[in-house]
Amino acid sequence: SVDLTGRRVLITGAASGIGRVIAEGFLAAGARVHVCDVSDDALGAMAREQPGIGASKADVSDPEAVAGLFDRVEAEFGGLDILVNNAGIAGPTGPVQDIDAEELRRTMAVDVEAMFHCCARAVPLMQNSGGGRVVNLASVAGRLSYSNRTPYAAAKWGVIGFTKSLALEVGRDGIRVNAILPGHVNTSRFRAVVERRAATLGITPQEMEREVLAPVALGSTVECEDIANMALYLCSSFGGAVTGQALSVCGGVEMM
Ligand code: NAD
Repeated sequence: SVDLTGRRVLITGAASGIGRVIAEGFLAAGARVHVCDVSDDALGAMAREQPGIGASKADVSDPEAVAGLFDRVEAEFGGLDILVNNAGIAGPTGPVQDIDAEELRRTMAVDVEAMFHCCARAVPLMQNSGGGRVVNLASVAGRLSYSNRTPYAAAKWGVIGFTKSLALEVGRDGIRVNAILPGHVNTSRFRAVVERRAATLGITPQEMEREVLAPVALGSTVECEDIANMALYLCSSFGGAVTGQALSVCGGVEMM
């Protein structure tokens, strides 16, 4: 198993879903973990269930909120070794001419700009301590084409471009920067999408799920733990030579 004893970790959007499971994985590996989220309820529940964890309310798309978040993290940890940019939203769907400009801006702000705000504070901390790891949550939508989901696809292609460029920029400082591309993850969000698309097409959710999973080599969804395991690998000594990579954890829905 991975040993990250004492490593100081910040994970965004980690009060629920994949981020929460990543946080639990880092805690189990011995790391000191601070999570942030916009959701008060989810943060409260997490802080109750994981008493050792630091938890802050912050909207990472807002540079001022990120400044406040990093002030708290620096006060708590005195530095930072690992940043996991996980917070993300699915964005609006539909034909390009129907995309609402405000919803588009929000998608870019949460899915892309937030990574800039967080890295702008995390990178100097990592440079000061001789290195670090940044893990960005992209999606297979950042490498494939998805009709009627152009905002999400554009945002996630952007995450991969940001990841590869930042990796080059900070590699000599000992900072590794990688992106994880989850495929269909077995979460309530996936179930909701399947049910919504099944209702639109007038088929059962089971039929819809079979159709969605047809192009997946392993024929199944992946679990949040699979994503967390990749994050742990990238942030451990095993991942020491890996930087600037976009790694799919998707059961083989895309194979580039
Ligand atoms: P989720 O919606 O279950 O959880 C995301 C968390 O981020 C929530 O707790 C939410 O409150 C928080 N959040 C949203 N906006 C925020 C903001 N502005 N500031 C701080 N926190 C914010 O999502 P998830 O399915 O766990 O996805 C996590 C990441 O993985 C996202 O970047 C997502 O795009 C990516 N991803 C997910 C899937 C999937 O199938 N679930 C697939 C591919 C990629």
